[in-house]
Amino acid sequence: MSHSDQYTIEDLYQSQHLDRKYFTIVTYGCQMNQHDSERLAGQLKSIGYEYTEVLSEANFVLVNTCCVRESAEKKIYGKIGELKTLKASKPNLIIGITGCMAQKDREKLFQKAPHIDLVLGTHNVHQLVETVKEFEETKKHVLAVWDQAERLAPDVPTIRKGAISAWVPIMYGCNNFCTYCIVPYVRGRERSRPVADIVKEVYELGQEGFKEITLLGQNVNSYGKDAEQNGDFADLLHAVDQVETIERIRYMTSHPRDINDKVIDVIKNSKKICEYFHLPVQSGSNTILKAMNRGYTTEYYKELIKKIRKAIPHASLTTDIIVGFPGETEELFQETLDFVKEIGFDSAYTFLYSKRSGTPAATMPNQVPAEVKQNRLQQLMDAQNDISLEINKRLVGKTVTVMVEGPSKNDESRLMGRTATNKIILWDKRGTEKIGELAKVTITTAQTWILKGQLVD
Ligand code: SAM
Ligand code: SF4
Repeated sequence: MSHSDQYTIEDLYQSQHLDRKYFTIVTYGCQMNQHDSERLAGQLKSIGYEYTEVLSEANFVLVNTCCVRESAEKKIYGKIGELKTLKASKPNLIIGITGCMAQKDREKLFQKAPHIDLVLGTHNVHQLVETVKEFEETKKHVLAVWDQAERLAPDVPTIRKGAISAWVPIMYGCNNFCTYCIVPYVRGRERSRPVADIVKEVYELGQEGFKEITLLGQNVNSYGKDAEQNGDFADLLHAVDQVETIERIRYMTSHPRDINDKVIDVIKNSKKICEYFHLPVQSGSNTILKAMNRGYTTEYYKELIKKIRKAIPHASLTTDIIVGFPGETEELFQETLDFVKEIGFDSAYTFLYSKRSGTPAATMPNQVPAEVKQNRLQQLMDAQNDISLEINKRLVGKTVTVMVEGPSKNDESRLMGRTATNKIILWDKRGTEKIGELAKVTITTAQTWILKGQLVD
């Protein structure tokens, strides 16, 4: 019998396919985590793994975790439970847990879920290849969680998810210790990257074809404070604005206490920095802001917004708000509702306060019952939705410039783009538009979260 009689084409394909190693990464949480996943993916690719979206096809599953709220943790433990079934049917499957929950729970994760093989902390992202090799040699649980970060983690290969927009971390960690927040405990103290490294990365991303970059940090306005020879955030923005290979610059997240006139001035006079301010206020009550250790008052915040609106009248403004922080009475909540109506945010990310063990707020008296929190959240969302719709309606009839990002998620015949003010615009595809280029769209319909329009010739 000849060789070809023994094996069909399908058998050969199957055997080649089996030789390949596939990885997938399930990512929870903020943009910093999304970017860490890009660095984890790059490392796995460097040791021969290929990416798959299909969980059941993967030989290696990484779960990149978040622990900012309890709801995220519950979801993640659910996902880890699901992986136990997958591992039972695929014993050679490697399962790794990374990110903030890994940093916080460490070996407890092995105790709760022995089918996990690797636990990698937030300061150890660059060590994935070493830990995989150690696991392959020993077949024993590998724990890589440093208590403290190196000043700056070494570079590793990175695979970017998007083709138009890229994230560029400018600093790691947070020094603020807002009393509700776990981030400083799992991401360490502030460490800023040198301006020259950031500018170089942005320039190279532009050369690779990226059009928009988002500078990332927990509190970008304190950039540079940990390294005296470096410039401050305004200097960095100015330097990045000069990079000719890139078209748009975004950044997140700003702390209202630390944003200063110099930053507003650089944005006002810049060519490429988006006129979009995300300034998490967290509460509209001075009593609660003090208990949160936010370091500003509502009066200060209002003045800041006045200043921004005077300097850049068409700028958009969004925020984060937590409802049900310990000690928040009905009256104090009402102050937040009134504050939100007075400021007129374009939109707000609203959260139920979530008790995070180890943070000061977790042991504060007068914790707010779940149903009260839920009810307040609903009131706040209803009020904000009305405001967002009202602001969006003012755009009807106006022509805006968008960067074309790609097809709408729900309708392939439509394209989606974003204004510099971060408004999402949908329009019927004409076919002349190019992904990553700027286009003009006249707004015809306003909704709470999106706007619809027509492409201008
Ligand atoms: N560093 C950024 C800042 O200060 O705005 C963002 C950090 S955090 C990942 C994003 C948002 O999560 C915060 O602005 C806050 O509104 C919310 N958050 C943080 N801890 C929380 C908690 N324990 N319960 C509810 N929301 C929380
Ligand atoms: Fe958390 Fe406050 Fe730091 Fe933001 S600034 S990460 S809310 S501690």
